[in-house]
Amino acid sequence: MTTVLAPELVLDADGPRRGLAVTVDPATGLITDVGTATEGALALPGRVLMPGVANVHSHAFQRDLRGVVERAAPEGRDDFWTWRTAMYDLAGRLDPDGIEDVARRAYREMRSAGFTSVGEFHYVHHRPDGTPYDDPNELAMRVIAAAEAEGMRIVLLLVAYARAGAGRPAEPGQRRFCDPDVATYLARLDDLRRRTVDRTLVRVGAAPHSVRAVPADWLEAIAAHCAAHGLPLHIHACEQRREIEECLAEHGVRPVELLRRTGALGPRTVIVHGTHADAHEMDLLARAGATVCACPATEADLGDGYVPAEELHRRGVPMAVGTDANGRIDPFAELRELELIARRTAERRNVLVAPGEEGPTPGLLRSAWRHGPAALGLPEGRIAPGAPADLIAVDLTHDRIAGVADEHLAAAIVFTGGPELVRETWIGGRA
Ligand SMILES: [Zn+2]
Repeated sequence: MTTVLAPELVLDADGPRRGLAVTVDPATGLITDVGTATEGALALPGRVLMPGVANVHSHAFQRDLRGVVERAAPEGRDDFWTWRTAMYDLAGRLDPDGIEDVARRAYREMRSAGFTSVGEFHYVHHRPDGTPYDDPNELAMRVIAAAEAEGMRIVLLLVAYARAGAGRPAEPGQRRFCDPDVATYLARLDDLRRRTVDRTLVRVGAAPHSVRAVPADWLEAIAAHCAAHGLPLHIHACEQRREIEECLAEHGVRPVELLRRTGALGPRTVIVHGTHADAHEMDLLARAGATVCACPATEADLGDGYVPAEELHRRGVPMAVGTDANGRIDPFAELRELELIARRTAERRNVLVAPGEEGPTPGLLRSAWRHGPAALGLPEGRIAPGAPADLIAVDLTHDRIAGVADEHLAAAIVFTGGPELVRETWIGGRA
């Protein structure tokens, strides 16, 4: 049963347009028609209908660290590594029901905030002592069930994890994440792919956790598997200086160079963070057509540093955004931070501007609608027949954007918007 949506405005990469009605079909999950409103259409006065935003990097369970991690460590330096200890404590306590519950809360919030797809970088796999559940994909399936229950489109990025670091076995807090060998991991990935192939909101990808947590031969095997099956390959890289130093010590090259050497750097590769990538690594990313997923709110919270947004932009490296630790879930804030980081760094305004464009907004919306979905192996968000019916309705009467002229609306939403502007969502054509 199709629904005809008749908003005041539609907005996509072609700009704002008035007087259009958009037909969505939950059977196919697609927009089937864009035309003039007819009788029986669902009127959405005071709304602008636009494609939703892709959330390319999430760890849903970390939402439960809210507030918990905002106390200074009792002694010594408080940074990513002390935060990680608190995160491991939480990960160690979760059971299957707890995982599903927190994932539902995270996905419900994402959906109401304006995200219509999520790349869930899922790494809590096994019992606290590291032994698999009767179903070795129990927890991944619970996370998928949570997304389906909330109507959220999910790409489950199954994490491969082998060790604490070069020559160091997994620490007790990491046992839940680990598989004994890469063949066991790939068998779980295959199993998950087979079990979800008919689920309309679900896809699967591979995610070697980081160059620290897997050895080079795992990267080679996972890259070959992704190439054979056309799967996205996501990996944390260049997030922390220590990670780069350890990579140089073990392999004699930096993380992105190691990815290239192992065949893991290509157009389906997504580097999460890239904070400390150097010029050569950024050249490699550009040449490979790989995407960088920045998570500005989390990177700020963890004291990671800044994504080198202008340097990546100048090289034409596609950027996407993610909410990562989910301390705050706000698609517009993540998007505008790409530009605001570039401004703080360059001490200039309107930095991420593509040739022929007036400002950064079209590029930021490409991150939301094209590069983000592409990073997850999903089609581009557009208001056009055949595009996914993953749409959000933003409130034009909200104090934040009331009175903004049509021509400035996209920029106003990106630069001042927040979850409170989003009134309705459709994912796969379902409200
Ligand atoms: Zn992450």
